[in-house]
Amino acid sequence: MKVRDNDNVFAEILGRAKALDPVNARKWFDDLVVLDFDGGSLKIGYGDETAVNFLRSTCRSTFTRAAQQATGHLITVDFELSRPKNGREEAPRLSQAVLHPDYTFENFVVGPSNRLAHASCIAVSQAPGSTYNPLFIYGNSGLGKTHLLHAVCYETITRAPAAVTQFLSCEEFTNRFIRAIQEGDLVGFKAQLRAADMLVIDDVQFLREREQTQEEFFHTFNALYNAGKQIILSADSAPGNLPSLEERLISRFNWGLVTRIDPPSYETRIAIVQKKAQLRGIDISDDIAQYIARKVQANIRELEGALTTIYAMSAAGGREITLELARTAVEGQIKLPFRHISITDIIEAVTKHFDVRLADLQSKKRNQSIMMPRQVCMYLARSLTRHSLEEIGGHLGGRDHTTVLHACNKINQAAQSDPKVGSLLAELTKRINTEG
Ligand code: ADP
Ligand code: MG
Repeated sequence: MKVRDNDNVFAEILGRAKALDPVNARKWFDDLVVLDFDGGSLKIGYGDETAVNFLRSTCRSTFTRAAQQATGHLITVDFELSRPKNGREEAPRLSQAVLHPDYTFENFVVGPSNRLAHASCIAVSQAPGSTYNPLFIYGNSGLGKTHLLHAVCYETITRAPAAVTQFLSCEEFTNRFIRAIQEGDLVGFKAQLRAADMLVIDDVQFLREREQTQEEFFHTFNALYNAGKQIILSADSAPGNLPSLEERLISRFNWGLVTRIDPPSYETRIAIVQKKAQLRGIDISDDIAQYIARKVQANIRELEGALTTIYAMSAAGGREITLELARTAVEGQIKLPFRHISITDIIEAVTKHFDVRLADLQSKKRNQSIMMPRQVCMYLARSLTRHSLEEIGGHLGGRDHTTVLHACNKINQAAQSDPKVGSLLAELTKRINTEG
């Protein structure tokens, strides 16, 4: 990561100014940005006019001293009203295209393990900012956190299309922050985040060991919280158990409602298998659903994987889905997905089938003969591995998570409307399962 020198020097000046004037520092200094900095003069920006006047009259001498200490030179310091480029920068609206079409409240099976998390998500989506704020959901991987977060977003943008809802994975938050630093546009970054009426951040455990990102996140959190905006977070463990997260962030996370999702009970698992089968248009009998629910216990993503394998086997061989087939799929020589399949296995199968090169998939080319295999890769990687959208995008030319999600939705829809695409996916899945 290449951070511009000026930002480093300014960070140093800011640190010294905070030490010189801790009282004003607490209130004002964290939201200052560099507007202009050339050897002899430093222009510091703040987003509010009254504050600028206050800073100019009260804190100029502190900053002049701090700048001298930090650089060894005499530097003229002034404060100015900062505006994001081109006036107020529009925050990107969350569109439904980015959300997984199946991750709605309707498709979420409620049971004792997730009832509280589900209820609090419903409450928050009906009255954002005024029930539980922040809402913090935690639980092991594959238990439905992302599903619930998407459902809240979906509900919110349907109910209040004018509200600015932002959904970010923690990785994306970090990446956008780093990009803003590199491009010297922290003001724009901050303005965008702070324009949110609802900010949803998935998998905050990834904030660990990223001090600068934690710092920025802390300020975003405060700004939104103070403005009464809804914040929703998810993580793989409770706030207090997130390793190397700053104390002050942990305490913020505990301000609202913290709720846990547990592994689902047998009955809930049966209901989930049935729901997933129904969503895919697969007909399975009760005894098969019970069988899968008995065999696969820890993780709902694996339940779905078992279903995918069964479906793939039946589609590829033109066979009816019987208990026997389910047994072979789950127990037999065919491995359960996720344990062994890597993105490389998927890429190999796809490049072979479509006769394209990996370099093409990773390139910027957008002709259909490359786009289609690329999107199929993304779809299969999403359904057969545990990689995050970011990771999948990373393997396919550094594409961002929205691109991957869009691809998955597109292929999903294509599979539903065109049986040829459906059987191609089943065939590829089977090949990856058996050869992988
Ligand atoms: P997490 O984010 O907790 O790792 P996800 O939200 O990605 O888990 O869920 C993994 C899969 O399991 C998703 O396909 C999701 O739809 C499904 N799932 C999880 N819980 C439920 C539920 N209660 N009802 C229906 N599907 C669920
Ligand atoms: Mg998740």
